[in-house]
Amino acid sequence: MMDSRTERRVPGRVKEVTSLSNPIVKDIKALALKKFRDQQHAFMAEGLKLVIDALDSGWKIKTLVFAKAGRGNAAVEKTAARTVAAGGLVLQVSEKVLAAITRRDNPQMVVGVFEQRYLPLKDVEPAGSDVWVALDRVRDPGNLGTIIRTADAVGAKGVILVGDCTDPFSVETVRATMGSIFSVPLARADAETFTAWRRGLSALVAGTHLKGSVDYRSVDYSTKPVLLLMGNEQQGLPGSLAEICDTLVRIPQAGRADSLNLAVATGVMLYEIRRNALPMEGKIDA
Ligand code: SAM
Repeated sequence: MMDSRTERRVPGRVKEVTSLSNPIVKDIKALALKKFRDQQHAFMAEGLKLVIDALDSGWKIKTLVFAKAGRGNAAVEKTAARTVAAGGLVLQVSEKVLAAITRRDNPQMVVGVFEQRYLPLKDVEPAGSDVWVALDRVRDPGNLGTIIRTADAVGAKGVILVGDCTDPFSVETVRATMGSIFSVPLARADAETFTAWRRGLSALVAGTHLKGSVDYRSVDYSTKPVLLLMGNEQQGLPGSLAEICDTLVRIPQAGRADSLNLAVATGVMLYEIRRNALPMEGKIDA
């Protein structure tokens, strides 16, 4: 039941909420935990620009939350109208409620709650010059978000999460994607399903491995679609995944570091694979 003292209707099907014990607010706050994200099949994205981008890309909004300060702001009101038109709920909340939802002292003025979305792995059919990234048991939300952002930047087609990965829809990962969560399709599978899918794939499967015998710059990535396979932060690629690769490449290192950070290694690989696909943006004069 709603608390009638803390919720009242304001024009345009917007509910005003000031209590942290409001049940809708509680549900949104619960999205900080994976269990509730999975239950609600939802996640949170912060910032007006992100929410507008998501709506423009066809993501289904469940709830739009905005701070009182957003009232009268044309862009916020337009977004609220789009939310209502899409069947979503609009909440106008106090700064205190917004800070509690986002767990930030200085929260963004707008938060959107969206439906989670995964592409079924069977529908991932790399063709032409497509590049897909597969991540084996990625654990760190910052790494995953950075990889999704980098995949977006280079024009990769999507990211496949293999095995027990960190949740791409956690607040930390979504923040690290800087909005790319809404542009990069995600698929997921356990290692067996992924391996079976890979068997039917007509693509160059390039795994990265510290013991790889091939320099990553010596491979021709232009003959087929590419599936780039990256290993877990602690353990690297297990033998069972290394053996389904067409090639195992290594990025040379000169210093004393054991390895590169996963997201950095993925970035280095993606820029090499997409080297010729990305436009040359002006020459640097000597
Ligand atoms: N201790 C782990 C190991 O032995 O593989 C280190 C894993 S590293 C932090 C995480 C992933 O980044 C690796 O599995 C690989 O995919 C990629 N990576 C990092 N440095 C690399 C390098 N120099 N060459 C190729 N891949 C690298």
